[in-house]
Amino acid sequence: MKDIATLHRTKEILAKHGFSFKKSLGQNFLIDLNVLGNIVGAANLTPDSGVLEIGPGIGSLTEQSAKQAKKVVALEIDQRLLPILEDSLAPYPHVKVIHGDALELDLETIVDEEFTQQGITDLAVVANLPYYVTTPIIMRILEARTPFRTLIMMIQKEVAERIGAQPGTKAYGSLSIAIQYYAEAEVCFTVPKQVFIPAPNVDSAVIRLNIRKEPAVKTLDEKLFFEVTRASFAQRRKTILNNLSSHFGKAEKEAVEAALHEAGIDPRRRGETLSLQEFAQLADALLPIKK
Ligand code: SAM
Repeated sequence: MKDIATLHRTKEILAKHGFSFKKSLGQNFLIDLNVLGNIVGAANLTPDSGVLEIGPGIGSLTEQSAKQAKKVVALEIDQRLLPILEDSLAPYPHVKVIHGDALELDLETIVDEEFTQQGITDLAVVANLPYYVTTPIIMRILEARTPFRTLIMMIQKEVAERIGAQPGTKAYGSLSIAIQYYAEAEVCFTVPKQVFIPAPNVDSAVIRLNIRKEPAVKTLDEKLFFEVTRASFAQRRKTILNNLSSHFGKAEKEAVEAALHEAGIDPRRRGETLSLQEFAQLADALLPIKK
């Protein structure tokens, strides 16, 4: 039988089940085997690997992961897709589809029961994400410190660029820092709109997040570190001193300035020029005035 992601087979599956796309669920299905091959290839799977997929759709990416991995677990919110997946993925008994919202499901328990307890320890997320949940899903997986080696995800190109951005660039911001704290981020390749049905409105890119064994920087108070990074970008054109003074309260302006000097950071700089290391030093120096 032909692969699911060929245009002919995809159309056949959709027609057979009378499926209509729901835009609100980000349903844009991939119909290009080369692109799918590149996505799965970026995960460096082995016959011992376990794959978690968010949003399998009709199973096009799931099938390509299943050809390489020991087990694939796919989380799908749309009940209408369950009988379709049962049908399309029937040749792959090592695929398990779980019905639910990836933002609500207990990911830690799923990973533990479906992979860890079964001795599957080389773990990857391989997904063509519904774009409306990109950031919350990635942050949930990273913050839960689930034992994934890598996350390979197709996301909106503009978000991929922000995630992978380096200090001193326009795209660099609190999202870049939040993710690079946990993972090495790399934009692998961009993907044209024509390889989806229906074609999405935005350009897409595949990003690889290799999870770090230890966070990128050491900080005394992780929560404060993230608070300081977010506050530093509150108004991008403002200096770091002004953004942080607004955040901690005008009465703390001198204390903020002292903390900046202690961390060796010129108060006139803008947040977008600071490295993760500098933000960590700054957050530690701000600990005495933490709210
Ligand atoms: N993986 C398929 C592919 O590449 O062709 C489909 C990808 S499509 C961009 C996104 C899929 O995620 C859809 O099947 C959609 O129903 C599903 N989805 C949307 N929101 C979800 C959520 N919160 N949890 C789980 N699945 C979701």
